Amino acid sequence: MIDDAIRVLAGDCTVIAETGDREEYRGRVTTIVKPDNTVLVHDSDGYQPVAWLTRADSVSSDRADGFTLVAKKDTQTLRIAAHDRDGFATYPVSAAGTPVGTCPDCGGTLVRSGDVHCVDCDTRYGIPADATVRDDKCDCDCGLPRMRVERGLAFDVCIDRSCESLDDAVREAFDREWDCPEPGCDGDLRILRRGGLIAGCEHYPDCDTGFAIPAGIVAGECGCGLPTFETRSGTRCLDATCDRGLARPLEADSAADD
Ligand SMILES: [Zn+2]
Ligand SMILES: [Zn+2]
Ligand SMILES: [Zn+2]
Ligand SMILES: [Zn+2]
Repeated sequence: MIDDAIRVLAGDCTVIAETGDREEYRGRVTTIVKPDNTVLVHDSDGYQPVAWLTRADSVSSDRADGFTLVAKKDTQTLRIAAHDRDGFATYPVSAAGTPVGTCPDCGGTLVRSGDVHCVDCDTRYGIPADATVRDDKCDCDCGLPRMRVERGLAFDVCIDRSCESLDDAVREAFDREWDCPEPGCDGDLRILRRGGLIAGCEHYPDCDTGFAIPAGIVAGECGCGLPTFETRSGTRCLDATCDRGLARPLEADSAADD
């Protein structure tokens, strides 16, 4: 089940906001407390809350004297005291995202917001931030959508890495494809996962040369001998710190160094 809950308090309230200057309001308002402790007090018009505190350090409620919510963050305080309570309720809540498919575990809707998760259960698939989730479904009977991820080539794999591994696909394409650029090292670069996907020297730990594989397509060869990648922000060497004549097409002669 969804663990996250949103709290809603509606009624005639006094709101005291000490989030800068001290402001006091009274009205029949609705207060929303999000799972990240963001507190929003809404009145009858406009999209903007009358008062709010984003990601408070703490939100406490006290039923002793009517009903009071107190949110605190550093020196800021937001206090909502209900004189006449119309309702107080707790509802399950999830992140909202673009619908991308159907949950294989419960039939709920899978949405993408960062990762891909179900809005009805705790099923979740971690996917790279730059992945494009596609309309077509996985070939196997998992029924999940597939994604396109650029790691040297454009790979088209299931969003469930236990169904189809992006790492395996990248390894198959580029393992030992490039030479370690470290002077005096004759190692090949292996495709490894250390946090992210990297191309790292096979002689590790004797040689600790390693590069995170950029989100992009191999476009040519750099003056340093490593491949260049066409990425969303331009062409770059596999080595992000390399400045040796980028974007030399594979077929062009060496003229990049000056
Ligand atoms: Zn589900
Ligand atoms: Zn699959
Ligand atoms: Zn090496
Ligand atoms: Zn380079």
